[in-house]
Amino acid sequence: DSRPDEDLLAGLNPPQREAVTHRGPALLIVAGAGSGKTSVLTRRIASLLRTREAYPSQILAITFTNKAAGEMRERVRQLIGDSAQGMWISTFHSACVRILRREADQFGFTKSFTIYDSGDSRALVKRLVKEHEGDSFGFTPAAVQGRISKLKNELADAESYARQANMSDPAERVFVDIFADYQRALQKANAFDFDDLIAQTVYLFRAFPHVADVYRKRFRHVLVDEYQDTNHAQYALIHELTRPVVGKAGDAFSSGGMMIFEPDEAPEVEGASLTVVGDSDQSIYAFRGADIRNISEFERDFPGAKVVLLEQNYRSTQNILSAANAVIGHNFDRKDKKLWTDVGDGDPIIGFTGYSQHDEAQFVADEIEALHRKNVDYSQMAVFYRTNSQSRALEEIFIRSAVPYKIMGGTKFYDRAEIKDAMAYLIAVANPADEMAVRRILNKPRRGIGDVTETAIARYAASEGITFRDALANASALGVGVKVQKAIAELDAVLVEASEIMLPSSGEIPPSTSVTEGLRVLLNKSGYYDVLRMSKDPQDEARVENLDELVAVTREFARNNPDGTLLDFLTEVTLVSDADDLDDASGSVSLMTMHTAKGLEYDAVFVTGVEEDLIPHRISAGEPGGPQEERRLFYVALTRARKRLHLSLAMTRAQFGEVSAAMPSRFLQEIPHELIDWRQSPGDVNSRGGMQSRAINGRPGAGGSRFGGSGSNRYGDDLVPLPRREKSDALAKFTNRIPAKIRDNGDMELAAGDRIRHDDFGEGKVDMITGEGAKRVAHVRFDTAGPKKLLIKVAPITKL
Ligand code: ATP
Ligand code: MG
Repeated sequence: DSRPDEDLLAGLNPPQREAVTHRGPALLIVAGAGSGKTSVLTRRIASLLRTREAYPSQILAITFTNKAAGEMRERVRQLIGDSAQGMWISTFHSACVRILRREADQFGFTKSFTIYDSGDSRALVKRLVKEHEGDSFGFTPAAVQGRISKLKNELADAESYARQANMSDPAERVFVDIFADYQRALQKANAFDFDDLIAQTVYLFRAFPHVADVYRKRFRHVLVDEYQDTNHAQYALIHELTRPVVGKAGDAFSSGGMMIFEPDEAPEVEGASLTVVGDSDQSIYAFRGADIRNISEFERDFPGAKVVLLEQNYRSTQNILSAANAVIGHNFDRKDKKLWTDVGDGDPIIGFTGYSQHDEAQFVADEIEALHRKNVDYSQMAVFYRTNSQSRALEEIFIRSAVPYKIMGGTKFYDRAEIKDAMAYLIAVANPADEMAVRRILNKPRRGIGDVTETAIARYAASEGITFRDALANASALGVGVKVQKAIAELDAVLVEASEIMLPSSGEIPPSTSVTEGLRVLLNKSGYYDVLRMSKDPQDEARVENLDELVAVTREFARNNPDGTLLDFLTEVTLVSDADDLDDASGSVSLMTMHTAKGLEYDAVFVTGVEEDLIPHRISAGEPGGPQEERRLFYVALTRARKRLHLSLAMTRAQFGEVSAAMPSRFLQEIPHELIDWRQSPGDVNSRGGMQSRAINGRPGAGGSRFGGSGSNRYGDDLVPLPRREKSDALAKFTNRIPAKIRDNGDMELAAGDRIRHDDFGEGKVDMITGEGAKRVAHVRFDTAGPKKLLIKVAPITKL
């Protein structure tokens, strides 16, 4: 055979080969996880290009995430070289943004439109619910936002919805008004929300066929990955793009000179060829309007479509596959698939039950380190959780254990501007010498203190030999206007008041709850909160919510550290927010939600929080099909693992400041028990900790404890609190008016072979030093505590 794409077919099994080489108007590839759907799609693109059946510019490939798009582009480039430029490989959203950036001025927007993320649109909805007194009908911003989103995904706008709604119901009328105002506000702001990006592109194509034709003529091959998760709007978009060209074909190629028709014979230009791949067992976006029927009705929608089934899994070991198959087998209403692999059983799945989420996180961190020592690269490990808020406990432990990590698909909480501002207020109180922090809050919120005044303050401080912060106490001496003097004096008063609460001049040690109280005073009396609350900018409402969350963090801190001080709090948070700096070239562990994990694969996977109310999530309980969708989500999580799978849970979990008992997820019981090797089973924790729990798999305590039955939990004490000595040092430093600072061993000269003493771990020998500057890490073998990695800058260590 001398097909020009023969090398692209190497190693493919017969149905995969067929899927790559089939040519025709429509092709559907349905198959279970890890069977090569995405690989086949990629090779198909490469094959179309290699055989010169298509120019790169004629290809539109849709992936579910930007990361997946990047990987696919790179893969195609590897297969056929740089000639792949000009292809569109992107998500639905970014493809639509590209189209809208070109065409937005056709229908009342400009090309510089902004995009509201879900936080922005939530804040806008919230304002409108308030304005329309929607709460008197029991409307919550989240529910209204969800409804609007769902309607948009079904391509309904406020007008069309009103036509079929029961408008004699006052609640319906209010909802329709909110929906209409919401849309007006977006238009006025020249903005699209996420759902609009798709829905408005469909609208554009339908309202302006000549615009649609441009894209129909261009994209001759449309390929869609993860088709099971397309919603109606996305489905409509694909239909619009693959429709035959409406306009005269003569125009179509007159410039390209490929195929010119006489205007009067003017046959339609055929629709693009469409390839979709999907797995109905991995449909996890029904809550956002994804419709599995898009797969099951594909053959009806595209008569004559070719269907290819793939059954061999190339990703996971048999143990992992068996667990995943067992779980998904509990869903009814599905076609049973026969996924198999020939790579062998592999390692058993490892189970662990922690006493708390910190305990669980420590297990994960320790296992990651153990795997890393066995030469598994950090970048080949991933940790999944059901909800974003679960990442905080993991992050805290990872930072302490110097496990490099990155969070996929989410902005780090502590990186947000408003959180940084609030932290700057706290730092201005805790460490008045930190001039940067004081400067940061000088004019936040705006109080008329500009650059000139800032310079005057600095100059005065220098001439008097006092700190920038102390200069604020002498506003009248600065030579600035009366109004500005007053603003400075007010800021000074707020800082003094908060300082009396958190660090009283009496020297008395305040209760740990004082951090919450002090933060409230700072945010309220400085006017920071009020300005955001009164703002009409929807983003500001999201900021208020973030600040509320920070207040909740201080409350949790107080609960966990009954004698914690402001400085302890700042130390904790500073370490958490330093996370990014730990990333280096040797790669990082990826943390993400189970939803984000779709389509990805890793050698080692940690699925955490395998508890009732998390997975299945408690919001799914009342939803029709909810628990089944949660089971598919869990199936997605399990099938990401190539060689090693860890399932963990905690028996107590603190969330939103509440500590409650957690129950093992029902999905655990669906996995044949011989597949899981419990390092510490729910039964172990039950018998020791006295927590109530159901025994899992009918064998409580089986699998043996990783602590050799000693009965003590080595994670019990050294979790979150700072070493005590450091605490009192910090307080002493402050009360002595020495600028207090977080512990800093910055220039400690450590080298391999040195012996050190650690406040908690005792004495040990340094094996090696990695990283540089603030990121230097000591790999220490402790005499009793074993191997640990320590961030030299902050670890409570002394050189012996
Ligand atoms: P998911 O349902 O999770 O999206 P998928 O069906 O898209 O999975 P891929 O990600 O394409 O599966 O493939 C899974 C793994 O199997 C990849 O590492 C891929 O390189 C490998 N693979 C696919 N086909 C073959 C093959 N014929 N020979 C060897 N490895 C293969
Ligand atoms: Mg895939």
